[in-house]
Amino acid sequence: MYRNQNAFNDKGLDSFAGHLPFVHPGLSPIAFTLGPAPASVVEAWVGDGRAKQPLFSFGVISDVQHADIPDGRSFLGVPRFYRHSILVLQRAVQKWNNCKKHKFVINFGDIVDGFCPPDQSLSTIRKVVDEFEKFDGPVHHLIGNHCLYNLPRDKLLPMLKIPSADGRAYFEFSPTSEFRFVVLDGYDISAIGWPEDHPNTLEAVKFLQEKNPNTEKNSPEGLVGLERRFLKFNGGVGKEQLKWLDSILQEATQMRQNVVICCHLPLDPGSSTDVALLWNYEEVMNLIHRYNCVKVCLAGHDHKGGHSIDSHGVHHRVLEAALECPPGTDAFGYVDVYKDRLSLIGTDRMESTEMCFDPQAER
Ligand SMILES: [Zn+2]
Repeated sequence: MYRNQNAFNDKGLDSFAGHLPFVHPGLSPIAFTLGPAPASVVEAWVGDGRAKQPLFSFGVISDVQHADIPDGRSFLGVPRFYRHSILVLQRAVQKWNNCKKHKFVINFGDIVDGFCPPDQSLSTIRKVVDEFEKFDGPVHHLIGNHCLYNLPRDKLLPMLKIPSADGRAYFEFSPTSEFRFVVLDGYDISAIGWPEDHPNTLEAVKFLQEKNPNTEKNSPEGLVGLERRFLKFNGGVGKEQLKWLDSILQEATQMRQNVVICCHLPLDPGSSTDVALLWNYEEVMNLIHRYNCVKVCLAGHDHKGGHSIDSHGVHHRVLEAALECPPGTDAFGYVDVYKDRLSLIGTDRMESTEMCFDPQAER
């Protein structure tokens, strides 16, 4: 039944091709977006003395949305290449492995598409996970709405080896003593993925009833501006998770760690279309802004990608989707992590982005 509810899936998420990076007014342009950077350019840039060796690096990819079905289009007509997307992932893994320097990989969610035939959900997820497992190191998976159209949480999370209790998909890890990665569960309060009578489902259904007057809760018709995010294919971060996030940020501050937040759903309107945002992004960002430790927020879901710096100097980078790469093209990358910045080196359709930490926000 849930399969039919994604007729509007991500329908507006590709609507602004050619979207320019947004720099918050009043902030010095301490970040800039580069075009796709060939390796030679990166090496030259590293070689000119501006950059030292990274502390570590990690691979990134988002929205593979694989399915063994013919190519299609989003609601707004953006082509989608369901069969090709797994080839993008294969090339990504090969490149990460050849590089031999990546400590881990983060998958930003939606590994399978909602149009995947129901009897192929399990095998398709298995197939994509198997490709990820060819990476010579740990892979951290985020869940997305499309994953949840295919499998309920209790089946999905073990397949993705998400360390969780009671079906929660938020966790954190520290690759080095200076950095902490916090993975948020954007579908914590959601009408998809939990059992129908689960308190989180009931909370989400009530929320959508209040915020979205349409019978079809994936339609933003009549909603204005940022209200357009109140759609069934999005979700929210619940109270318990907020409390957990608060405790992690407190601890990271005490330990003088820099924090990178990862969430399938974008957290800043400057980096994303309105229809793709987390329901309670403001509440989450208000909490994050109480601390100075969070430097970068990374996300997927909004397929065209985006970059912004918010009013507190936090970078928001939404990653371009592997699904929308025409055959022979790619969208994946890796991030070099330095003490004072994250440097995303994109391949092909994934833009490279320098994300220098705001010097005003002292640790
Ligand atoms: Zn998504």
